[in-house]
Amino acid sequence: MTERIVVIGADAAGMSAASQALRIAGDAVQIVAFERGGHTSYSACGIPYWVAGDIDEPERLIARSPDAHRRNGIDLRMRTAVEEIDLQAGRVAAHDLAAGRSYRESFDSLVIATGAVPVRPPLPGVDAVGVFGVQTLDDGAALLADLDRAQPRRAVVVGGGYIGVEMAEALVRRGVAVTVVDQAAQPMTTLDPDMGAAVHQAMQGIGIDVHTDTAVTGFETSGDRRIRSVVTADGSIPADVVVLGLGVRPNTALARNAGLPLGDQGGLRTNVQMQVLGYDCVWAGGDCVEVLNLVSGQYQHVPLGTHANKHGRVIGHNLAGSYATFPGVVGTAVSKVCHLEIARTGLRERDARRAGFAYVTVTVRSGTKAAYFPGTRQMTVKMIAERCTGRLLGVQIVGSEGSAKRIDTAATALWNRMTVEEITALDLAYAPPFSPVWDPILVAARQAAAAVRQTGADRSP
Ligand SMILES: Cc1cc2nc3c(=O)[nH]c(=O)nc-3n(C[C@H](O)[C@H](O)[C@H](O)COP(=O)(O)OP(=O)(O)OC[C@H]3O[C@@H](n4cnc5c(N)ncnc54)[C@H](O)[C@@H]3O)c2cc1C
Repeated sequence: MTERIVVIGADAAGMSAASQALRIAGDAVQIVAFERGGHTSYSACGIPYWVAGDIDEPERLIARSPDAHRRNGIDLRMRTAVEEIDLQAGRVAAHDLAAGRSYRESFDSLVIATGAVPVRPPLPGVDAVGVFGVQTLDDGAALLADLDRAQPRRAVVVGGGYIGVEMAEALVRRGVAVTVVDQAAQPMTTLDPDMGAAVHQAMQGIGIDVHTDTAVTGFETSGDRRIRSVVTADGSIPADVVVLGLGVRPNTALARNAGLPLGDQGGLRTNVQMQVLGYDCVWAGGDCVEVLNLVSGQYQHVPLGTHANKHGRVIGHNLAGSYATFPGVVGTAVSKVCHLEIARTGLRERDARRAGFAYVTVTVRSGTKAAYFPGTRQMTVKMIAERCTGRLLGVQIVGSEGSAKRIDTAATALWNRMTVEEITALDLAYAPPFSPVWDPILVAARQAAAAVRQTGADRSP
């Protein structure tokens, strides 16, 4: 008998799930996918680089078009929003936005891959002309059209997370004077403040005016409703264009209305096969779910494309009767601002405290290549390890080209619950163009192991 699968949301998680299920099960599954937008399987991650001018055509950010999915056998309904899920009856109510027609579609299995909604603060003037989000390709196109048409000279980016920082750099590269406003003490709060300070400095180094500890309270407009300035507790900042980078929340209103349980952060929770807890025929993945942090043991909302694609693959395998699991995350992420690469994995100090760990930290500065090798640059590694046991808890890296991807060694060590002492013995590659003879991760691990031994010595009678 053919299994009928309905997928809601046709980007990373949804279409990975659909394609994988079809690849394995073939004619044994019939897949109907609904997408309320106009694009499928595209890289939102590339939007800042498109705005900066590194990528000329938005089509280059699209991995698979609606037609390509249809040719592969998926019954894809574009510009069609699912408005209701009836779990008891096993069907969804969909609304074709172009035709203005509503209809129902039944399912044996349902995949919820509705992504996230960007935070848009309910502040006066937030809907002014010239205030943009950068969540979708359409958002990117609208911003680019405005940059071409209005030729703004001054931009304010609200939010200093990785999207805010990447967008600030993109606007600087287009010749716009940029101010970033964030209510936190440093940009990039995914790092500890001491490491965020290096990001702050790098942003200032390319001419970005960074206002930290500053809350936005509203947006002032001119007579034509166009943005004129961003209002903060410390005064107004003139702006011809504003980009909002305030993070996202799981898009789960549909799931909640269907009676599905949500976690503390508003995301769906699943078992390791990505089945919604307590509902065998409902699967969920991507930015609409919370995931288990394997270091802290706590659920978190970690809206990243890398997870969404893995979730989709796992859902697809399991829908097709094969078997795959997504055990959780260790919290790895990477970004850059100008020449400065920024990476993190595991817990920050505040996460470690919240999770109840006693810990030591070390911070080392090292080169990206052998000291004598042309082009070697500085990088800083901060390592956090559990006191007494020496278990690795987290690593943060900021530095020049060649720094950031070293985080993958740390992520692998975290995944395997290694101690910093064990890391010191890792067989990492060395040749002068790539690394000092002691890789910066090994240097940090050696110092962390010494700090852990010291905590043992302090405890001995
Ligand atoms: C500017 C930017 C930069 C980023 N950079 C990175 C990066 O460098 N690295 C990284 O790992 N991640 C990055 N991300 C995050 C990454 O893009 C997301 O995590 C990923 O797209 C999530 O995929 P998803 O399938 O869960 O959700 P989405 O991509 O949001 O897709 C969900 C889809 O569901 C549709 N939908 C929602 N509700 C309905 C409904 N009721 N009916 C029909 N359709 C519906 C939406 O229209 C949407 O197309 C970035 C994101 C942005 C915005």
